Amino acid sequence: MDCPTFAANKKCMKIFSIAIHGGAGTLVKGMMTPEKETAYKSALKTALDEGYQLLENGGSSVEAVELAVRLLEDSPLFNAGKGSVFTSTGSHEMDASIMDGSTLNAGAVSFVEGVKNPITLAKDVMEKSEHVFLAGEGAMEFARNHNHKFENETYFHDDLRYNQWQEIKGTDGFQLDHSLKKDSKFGTVGAVACDQFGNIAAATSTGGMTNKKFGRVGDSPMIGAGNYANNKTCAVSCTGSGEFFIRGVIAYDVACLIEHKELSLEAAASEVVHKRLLDIGGDGGVIAINTKGEITMPFNTEGMYRASKSSNGEELIAIYK
Ligand code: ASP
Repeated sequence: MDCPTFAANKKCMKIFSIAIHGGAGTLVKGMMTPEKETAYKSALKTALDEGYQLLENGGSSVEAVELAVRLLEDSPLFNAGKGSVFTSTGSHEMDASIMDGSTLNAGAVSFVEGVKNPITLAKDVMEKSEHVFLAGEGAMEFARNHNHKFENETYFHDDLRYNQWQEIKGTDGFQLDHSLKKDSKFGTVGAVACDQFGNIAAATSTGGMTNKKFGRVGDSPMIGAGNYANNKTCAVSCTGSGEFFIRGVIAYDVACLIEHKELSLEAAASEVVHKRLLDIGGDGGVIAINTKGEITMPFNTEGMYRASKSSNGEELIAIYK
C-alpha cells in the first residue's frame, strides 16, 4: 500500500499540510523594521498553527482554509477584512472565495461592505445556498439572513491604509496596496490545505486595490482566476495584479498544466508565475498544494508573506526570496 507515514497504532496516516499567504509585492528589505517583521511573522504563525491544529485533530481542508483566512482577515496587517484598503469613496469593498477540491463546490462574494469575515460568508454561500457567487447588496442580505457579524467603519479604519488612499484620492489612479510606496503594507490573504483524508481546498480574501471605483472586482473571488481547488490536480490561492490573474485564469492554469501536461505541482506553479503571468504583464505569486500534501509557493515580486507547515515536519515562515 502506498502509505507516506504510519502512526503508533500502525494505521496509515496521510500527510496533511497547510500553506498561507498574506500578499505578494514590492517590499524593499531595508525598509522593513525588525518590529514589523516580527509582527507579520507572528500573525502568519498564529493563522498557520491554528489551521494546522485543526487538520491534526481530523478537521477538513475546507474548515482549515476558512479558519486560517478568517484569522488573517481579523489582523489589521493584511489587506482583507479588518485591514482592507479604501475605495475611491472611502469605503471598504471586500471580495472572497473558497473551493472544496473533493466536490468542486465553491462559494464566492464580492463587493461586500461591513461584513467582518467575508471568507466565512463565502463558505456559507458554498454550503447553504444553491449558488456560487453573490455580490453587493444581495450578498449582504444573505449575510444578515445567516447571522454574519457586521462591523462599523471604525473597525475597518487603519491609518496606513487611509494615508495610502489620501495619496491618490481624487485621481483616476488605483493601486495595489503595495505597488507605489515601497514601505507600504500589502496583503490579500489566502490559504490552501490538504487534510488527513487526502482532500484539498483553497480560500482567498481581499480588500482589493486602493482607490478602486466603478465596482471594480479583482481575481480573488473569481473561481479559476484567484482561487481554485480540485483533488485531481491541486488547490491554489493567488495574490498580485488581479486584472492579469483574471485574463490568465491563473489558478486554473496551474491545474491545467498538471492535468494536461502532466507537470509536477512545483513545475506547473513555477511555469505559470515565472513565465505565463509575466508574459502577459502580471506580477504576484501563488501558493499551491496537492493531495500528497506537497506545497509550492512561487512569486515573481520582491517578496510574498507566506508560511507552510506539514505533518512530515517541514515548516516555513518567510517574506523575501
Ligand atoms: N489580487 C488582488 C486584487 O487584484 C490584490 C492583491 O493580491 O493584493 O484584488
